[in-house]
Amino acid sequence: MTRVSSDPRDDYFDTHSDSVADRVAVALAKVGLAMKNAQLAQAQEGGLSATQQQILAILAARGAQRPSAIAQRLGVTAATVSDSIKSLCEKGLAERDRDPDDARAQRVALTPKGRRRAESAMGWPDFLVGAIDKLSADKQEAFLAGLIELIATLQREDKVPQSAMCVSCVYFQPWRHGAEAASPHHCGLVDAPMAHRHLRVECPEHERAADEDASRALEQLRDGARSKPKRSDL
Ligand code: SF4
Repeated sequence: MTRVSSDPRDDYFDTHSDSVADRVAVALAKVGLAMKNAQLAQAQEGGLSATQQQILAILAARGAQRPSAIAQRLGVTAATVSDSIKSLCEKGLAERDRDPDDARAQRVALTPKGRRRAESAMGWPDFLVGAIDKLSADKQEAFLAGLIELIATLQREDKVPQSAMCVSCVYFQPWRHGAEAASPHHCGLVDAPMAHRHLRVECPEHERAADEDASRALEQLRDGARSKPKRSDL
């Protein structure tokens, strides 16, 4: 039975609140600021800029990369990346080598010293992991699903750099096992079912799907069971 209230103040916050979307955006900005401050503090402690530290993290996660690929991932100019790489090489944390796929192109790779440094730097969001761990498992999963959709939407609009998420991967097959399955999705690379909680945000095996396939996968994730997988996915 619907509860009927006679208190005229019951709808006060309906008419005196910013939208939920507005408040989520403000909340995310606060989290982003906390992360940026933590990252800056750690980078300064080790004598690196935030960009240099991010480059170390990319090289540790993805192996040797061309400078243009690093710039694209960070969403900064080639000149900014070039200066940071020069500085990392001078500090003995990175080195340049020839791209085996194109002898005219150069890649950047970590030195052993750079790898040690990157591994210690990659622990910097620990404070955030600790806070998220305090949420219930259901809330963590809902948070992950919401953030993945949000990032994929922003990527589609070119508002954030591309990242290696399942939703934009050629191997990802959303809802292949049906919405009722405990693990409804499928990774074609390892040929195994995956649940929503398994969706990756940064996967070393990621291979970028065509834009229209990534958009379709995002719509399918959003629409859930109402979307049918492509026939070629079956
Ligand atoms: S290869 Fe990685 S990114 Fe691609 S679907 Fe499998 S787990 Fe996801």
